[in-house]
Parts: sequence; C-alpha cells; structure tokens
Amino acid sequence: MGEITTSVLPDWTYTHIRDRRKQIVLALLRIGHTYLTQKYLLTRDPQPYCDDCLVPLTVRHLLVECLSLIELRHRYLYRCRGRDSGVFYLSKVLGPASLAPGHDVFRFQGEAGLLPNL
Ligand SMILES: [Zn+2]
Repeated sequence: MGEITTSVLPDWTYTHIRDRRKQIVLALLRIGHTYLTQKYLLTRDPQPYCDDCLVPLTVRHLLVECLSLIELRHRYLYRCRGRDSGVFYLSKVLGPASLAPGHDVFRFQGEAGLLPNL
C-alpha cells in the first residue's frame, strides 16, 4: 500500500491520457490499491498469493518483480530498468514516461490479463 507517493512522483501527471478509466487505473496502481490485490481486506478471504512465485500479490510484484511476467515486462516496460542493474523500477513504470510510444503500462497489464481485475 502506498507503493508510489507524491514524494516519489512529485508530478502526478497523466501525460496524454484522456481516458478517465485509465487515469483511475493509473492512480490505483500508484497508491498500490487495486481490487485484485486488496479485495481480501473487504471479503476477509486469505491474502492472494502469486501462483508462480508464492509471494503475496502486490502491485509491485505484478509490475516489477514477478518472473512469469518478465517477457511482457521486457516488451512493454524496457525503459524502466536501471542502466547497470537491469532492475525494473516501480517509480519509472508508473511515472510519466511509462506511457510513451512502445512503452505502455496498460498494454503490459492488458496482455498479462490484469486489467479486468484491477
Ligand atoms: Zn509472481
């Protein structure tokens, strides 16, 4: 929760996003609150875990850590890696640059099948 705050992203811009639903999804991802990852708090179900990695399902895990999504991450979020380490940074994935042509967090989520569940 609170994965990305205004202290990390001082400018909460949506760049060229005009679609209100996409603006909402981006805001939810930035604060780390999605239905997919947080619904257990409402339903009192057990916390969801990633089936592949066996770790708690979080926005951070889905966007920058999950090994089963590494191919999609390299395809759509390749500019979000550190120069030397190759580590993906959540602040870059959800920052303004994440919506540049050929680098799209929404297409990443769409192909990963996450968008309908967020
Ligand atoms: Zn995983």
